[in-house]
Amino acid sequence: MVLFVKFGNFFCKIQSRRLEILNPFAVLSRCCHFLQNPQNNVAIFWDLDNKPPNPIPPYEAAIKLKATASSFGFVQHMVAYANRHSFSYVPPMVREVRKERKMLNQLENKGVIKPVEPYLCRVCGRKFYTNEKLVNHFKQLHEREHMKRLNQIESARGSRRVKLVGKYSMKMEKYKNAARDILTPKVGYGLADEIKRAGFWVRTVSDKPQAADIALKNHMVDVMDRKGAECFVLVSDDSDFLDVLKEAKLRCLKTVVVGNVTDGTLKRTADAGFSWKEIMLKKAKKEAVSVVGKWKDRDVLERLEWTYDQEMEKSAYFSDIESEDGDSEGTIEGVHHDCMQEDNSGSWWEIDSDSDDTVSQRRK
Ligand SMILES: [Zn+2]
Repeated sequence: MVLFVKFGNFFCKIQSRRLEILNPFAVLSRCCHFLQNPQNNVAIFWDLDNKPPNPIPPYEAAIKLKATASSFGFVQHMVAYANRHSFSYVPPMVREVRKERKMLNQLENKGVIKPVEPYLCRVCGRKFYTNEKLVNHFKQLHEREHMKRLNQIESARGSRRVKLVGKYSMKMEKYKNAARDILTPKVGYGLADEIKRAGFWVRTVSDKPQAADIALKNHMVDVMDRKGAECFVLVSDDSDFLDVLKEAKLRCLKTVVVGNVTDGTLKRTADAGFSWKEIMLKKAKKEAVSVVGKWKDRDVLERLEWTYDQEMEKSAYFSDIESEDGDSEGTIEGVHHDCMQEDNSGSWWEIDSDSDDTVSQRRK
């Protein structure tokens, strides 16, 4: 495997050097991401087992997370992984609200208290003077209708199915929006549905320990292999993700971590780190602008560096081929060197003196 990668790199090098000789501008375009794609593609990977959005409502948290990530580029992938336990768990705050609602319902039924305004059915517009009556009406009428529609779509095939989906889409949307407030989710507190609603791809993994971590890591590496994103946003405090974060950095990708541990290992490794609070208060979105600015500066600096070093590069080419079977790969210098040779990417954090400072600061 290592040999294969080594050879892969070797041929890449030869190919890119040939290009350089033919066209010196190839060097420029190769090492500057922002010149080629004005915007980076961003991928969000959410470890829901480790970092559920509690106590923030899941939909709101997911939307804000997406908004922050979009400051780094175009959000291409949004995935969340958790085991079944995380989806069936009901946070204490939600349990408390449900308990209160139950007590209110009892008082309303007994006529002890009266709501200021009647409860409105958001599907048909009917009004009810107790919440329990509204819930019963909703279940008996609208839930049944909804199930009927779902069954019809389920049993239809081909163009008929497409037609039915189109025909019912508005009604089903209206039902779902109303049901969210009226019905209590059968399992958990609707975490998966709410995150899906925000546009995330939600995956449930087996209850084995670490199952979500492993699945998430594999997914991240897969996106890296397919060059699906230039910026990786990881939502986790779990230091098990350190390896995959380092891998992303070796591949010259930009990394952002969202977690609550202020000085965690992950945050120290990533280019930028935010807490849930910063995400929710839009502080992260503001800071992201300066992070992106730094990335752009680094890319520009690197571009200058490449043009300046062109002569040196050519002489390095021959010595490189001679020392190809040397074991430079294991050392940090070797890794960064490989990174620099990779097509369409740049070692933007290493070359300029600014970034050296930040790296050494982080190490302190
Ligand atoms: Zn109704």
